[in-house]
Amino acid sequence: MRLDPGIPEGPIHQKWQRHRFEMKLVNPANKRKYSVIVVGTGLAGAAAAASMGELGYNVTSFCFQDSPRRAHSIAAQGGINAAKNYRNDGDSVQRLFYDTIKGGDFRARESNVYRLAELSVNIIDQCVAQGVPFAREYDGHLANRSFGGAQVSRTFYARGQTGQQLLLGACQALACQIATGKVRMFPRTEMLDLVIVEGRARGIVVRDLSTGEISTHVADAVVLATGGYSNVFYLSTNAKGCNVTAIWRAWRRGAGFANPCFTQIHPTCIPQSGDYQSKLTLMSESLRNDGRIWVPKKAGDDRPAGAIPDEERDYYLERLYPAFGNLSPRDIASRRAKEQVDAGRGVGPLRNGVNLDFSDAIRRLTRDVIEERYGNLFDMYARITGENPYETPMRIYPAPHYTMGGLWVDYDLMTTVPGLFAIGEANFSDHGANRLGASALMQGLADGYFIIPATIGNYLARTKLERIEPSHPAFRDVEAEVQARNRRLMEAGRKRTATAFHRELGMMMLDRCGMARNKAGLESLLAEIPRLKERFWAEVNVPGESKDLNQALEVAGRVADFFELAELMCLDALAREESCGGHFREEFQTDEGEARRDDERFSHVAVWESTADGPKRHIEPLTFESVQMAQRSYK
Ligand SMILES: Cc1cc2nc3c(=O)[nH]c(=O)nc-3n(C[C@H](O)[C@H](O)[C@H](O)COP(=O)(O)OP(=O)(O)OC[C@H]3O[C@@H](n4cnc5c(N)ncnc54)[C@H](O)[C@@H]3O)c2cc1C
Repeated sequence: MRLDPGIPEGPIHQKWQRHRFEMKLVNPANKRKYSVIVVGTGLAGAAAAASMGELGYNVTSFCFQDSPRRAHSIAAQGGINAAKNYRNDGDSVQRLFYDTIKGGDFRARESNVYRLAELSVNIIDQCVAQGVPFAREYDGHLANRSFGGAQVSRTFYARGQTGQQLLLGACQALACQIATGKVRMFPRTEMLDLVIVEGRARGIVVRDLSTGEISTHVADAVVLATGGYSNVFYLSTNAKGCNVTAIWRAWRRGAGFANPCFTQIHPTCIPQSGDYQSKLTLMSESLRNDGRIWVPKKAGDDRPAGAIPDEERDYYLERLYPAFGNLSPRDIASRRAKEQVDAGRGVGPLRNGVNLDFSDAIRRLTRDVIEERYGNLFDMYARITGENPYETPMRIYPAPHYTMGGLWVDYDLMTTVPGLFAIGEANFSDHGANRLGASALMQGLADGYFIIPATIGNYLARTKLERIEPSHPAFRDVEAEVQARNRRLMEAGRKRTATAFHRELGMMMLDRCGMARNKAGLESLLAEIPRLKERFWAEVNVPGESKDLNQALEVAGRVADFFELAELMCLDALAREESCGGHFREEFQTDEGEARRDDERFSHVAVWESTADGPKRHIEPLTFESVQMAQRSYK
């Protein structure tokens, strides 16, 4: 597998501009001769499809929801980073770049991260121009707040609905292109495979989720913007529909999969309340601006929070990390919460949470101010738990949330399959081993609005593509494989639902490949997952017809891919004999319980290739010229 990141020459702050100048362009009159498939209508996909439609390409856009506007990006609450320095508190492109590289524990590609920081400022201008109602100060300036891992306020937000408002902006641009005919939209349509012709991505096979009909679509390039795979853990903050199928099918067809084990467990979620649950709820990280995290000093203390005096509380993040306190990065805050709960100091009926307490902030700022900042999040918490967070601390605990791993891409966001691009959470991203809060929306929109519209032209202008029809044998073969796979699922043993298998897999993964991992646990998973997978294929129950609306079939297909992905995650976690960011191998920690990297052996991206003999590991070495690698410290 050839892994050429294609990093442009020159000083880091000139690379993107220079590259843009050196890229080949497609003449405006020729753009209409090219077709591009974009799978996914979250922030990355909607921004990409709208921008490429606007440029004149013929775009076909797909999502499995009934409307592009319901893509999972709509759930994003807290905000989006940008190095605007409106607060004059010392921010700059260089600082955002540095914070992101350090936050990711020096496991991201410098050149891409610098470009991301550079483009962050354009994103805000673009969204304001679209009418996104960012929060404003009384004088009309855009407001900012802080997120984890940063000592400046650079997060733009729209109350607790930032993702929704940004997606409305992107989808209104998309709707405009649908109306002009430059984008053809296929909602409720799931991509089930990728078609490669003469080594290049030329189309996809999809299933119409309403009728069950399988069909093929041909294009000159394919862009996957299909989001993350946290649902491999079954319980996560992601919508139930989020899945890995599109990028997994691409992996099976030859695209490299980078750092699959780099997953993020978010510290600020509502703790699980019982086995019946199928989803966990995020309480935005923005709450940590004003909430203070603590547990009782004494294990098993079951007095109500208000009855525990200050000197008997442990504000452990403020104690351990005085410089960043409650805004310590997610990987660190999560591990420390787990440590407290494991030591018996957890709070709540199941003792599986820590307190996030707003009483000081309410005293200092008044209840009205807190309500104005976080009112909808407080309401959501009250509805779910039946507790009033203005009067008693919220209970929070870490939950699977984001996946830094994904399809490997070069500087142009192209995978190892020519003509196949991956953007947004679906690629292995700029976040290294740990993503900082409010940086996913930034990355998805940078990829969709600014990078892919430029780099796809460079690919098309440099490539001679034969015209092909859907009747091409490669399309017929892949379509037949998709049909056969569906038949196999329909004809399995009919004993147990796919969801029951998924829950079992997820709990195993969370336990042994979640917040903490070790060799013995990973090896036991690698022995047990194949056995469970075998049972799944023999016993899964998919009632109904395949040529009809059939949600059991949809779920079964996705769970089948989660099984394979889970094995790859364990292999990756086992091979990376170090701790970095969200990847915490218990064998590799400092005396203070922090992640211990091994830069000599692991300063690289691990990229897995699907081969007939099983997954094969390759590496892309990471070099740091503009920042100095150091032990991460938030003390
Ligand atoms: C609860 C929550 C809150 C968050 N808050 C923030 C925040 O405040 N700030 C921040 O920066 N980040 C936040 N994040 C992370 C961020 O929201 C996501 O990383 C980001 O929105 C992902 O965008 P995307 O466009 O890559 O994918 P998504 O928005 O997940 O979109 C995926 C798209 O792909 C489509 N799709 C997937 N598979 C297929 C298939 N096989 N066939 C057809 N279509 C397919 C889906 O239909 C959908 O349209 C949050 C995440 C969660 C879960």
